[in-house]
Amino acid sequence: MGHRVVHGGDKYIQPVVVTGKILEEMAKLDQLAPLHNPVNRMGIKEGLRLLPEARPVAVFDTAFHSKMPPQAHLYGLPFEYYQDHGIRRYGFHGPSHNYVALKAAEFLKKPFSDMKMVTCHLGNGASICAIDHGRSVDTSMGFTPTEGLVMGTRCGDLDPSVILYLQRNQGLSLDAMDDLLNRQSGLKGISGISNDLREIEAAAEKGDRRVLLAIQLFCYRVKKYIGAYGAVMSRLDTLIFTGGIGEGSAGVRARICQGLGYMGISLDEVQNKTGTPERGGVKKISDEASAVKVLIVPTDEERMIARETIRTLGFQNLADSIRHWEERPIPIEVSAHHVHLSQADVEQLFGTSPELTSRGELSQPGQFACQEVVDLIGPKAAVARVRILGPARAESQVEISITEGFKLGIDAPVRPSGQLERTPGITLEGSAGKVSLSKGVICSLRHIHLAPEDALFFGLRDKDLVRIRVEGQRALIFGDVLVRISPEFKLNMHLDTDEANAAEIKTGMIGFLEAIHDRK
Ligand code: AMP
Repeated sequence: MGHRVVHGGDKYIQPVVVTGKILEEMAKLDQLAPLHNPVNRMGIKEGLRLLPEARPVAVFDTAFHSKMPPQAHLYGLPFEYYQDHGIRRYGFHGPSHNYVALKAAEFLKKPFSDMKMVTCHLGNGASICAIDHGRSVDTSMGFTPTEGLVMGTRCGDLDPSVILYLQRNQGLSLDAMDDLLNRQSGLKGISGISNDLREIEAAAEKGDRRVLLAIQLFCYRVKKYIGAYGAVMSRLDTLIFTGGIGEGSAGVRARICQGLGYMGISLDEVQNKTGTPERGGVKKISDEASAVKVLIVPTDEERMIARETIRTLGFQNLADSIRHWEERPIPIEVSAHHVHLSQADVEQLFGTSPELTSRGELSQPGQFACQEVVDLIGPKAAVARVRILGPARAESQVEISITEGFKLGIDAPVRPSGQLERTPGITLEGSAGKVSLSKGVICSLRHIHLAPEDALFFGLRDKDLVRIRVEGQRALIFGDVLVRISPEFKLNMHLDTDEANAAEIKTGMIGFLEAIHDRK
């Protein structure tokens, strides 16, 4: 039985099979979503009473956004408020954004993991999400679903000092303030007639000025976010409309897209105003000249929750049947910055002796650290004497930590090794010359290497995402660890220097497989 649970906090970053203990723990999240979470828990308890043999799975609205980078999920408050009180941006409508994005990838016949999309979930509650390489990298709702877009009855983005001003000058109580921001604002508050866009559009036809303003403000806010998310992702290939308004209002879609030609967005006006697709369908409403594909995708959160439930139960069954994971500890290695080079770049950087010279074997068979080093020259500063790892590869690749990226003046994305498209470039200087790479700088995604025999032992497949527990002075769980399997590999987990430093982890410590949480 799959259940939607709105808030998963920092702890539930993927669906879980709910046990009595988890249900108790989930109660702590009630204060973050007082209108939703207690009711969600009640639903789980009732489900257990009615169908005691069905295992309950909780699918969290916030989980899809849990990989947002810190610069997107933090507020500009003192850091302690995040650390001690969990005050950060969580984002909501996860199953909806995830579903429509997956559906769009299927419709466009492109790998989901390769696209840059903006999904606009415009319903009574409304949020917008930037999805880069299959991950939510930013979304408009924050700590609660009040932030972001103007909604049916919620105000969306607001200078927090307005609240202080109202409290000081109008003496509004907390409950009155809550009612004002969440139930009296948005389309309803501005139009003065309704939170339902159908009624508002009907009144606008008759020329009611406040009603027109409500529509203008609603669309303007969405447009502003699309621009912001285009900037965040450096490019956009797909724009998706969903939710009651996104699917139902041709006028809203047209107003939002108007003037976005410079971003490569241009609507086919006829397609936009004729016929909405059924649930399960997709309709393209951009014209042939539009570089960005604009789609209407009716949302289907129930289907997404069912899918997540089935997947989670599958992983759980696997985990239940393989209880011997603890018998095979995974050695940890902290990877320092390094460079892989193509043969052509080796020759340009080191001249006449084109073979890389080994100064020592690495833990992965066949790989070696080289005598050769290069200086990395970024737009802000340089990092000297970075070791080359051999043998030569098809493409050059520079792996640095986020801190080094900062020193160099380069914002390197977190990527699995080898996924270099649309990554920043850098200049390398060797003993015999320079090479300017147009791409190739990444911060390596934490990963484990396994030989096929290890994979069989753990029941893992290549590209699974797993959770690893690391035993040290304090036990730490690393989620989102990528599994790489090859006959050439030896079992170990690679962590980036920054991450290891932050968690006080050193090479030589050990980890254990805790759970599988995603499988393609
Ligand atoms: P949701 O929360 O996704 O169910 O969306 C509900 C909201 O969508 C309603 O309150 C309406 O404002 C809006 N809506 C639904 N159908 C239409 C339509 N055909 N045209 C305009 N707005 C619509």
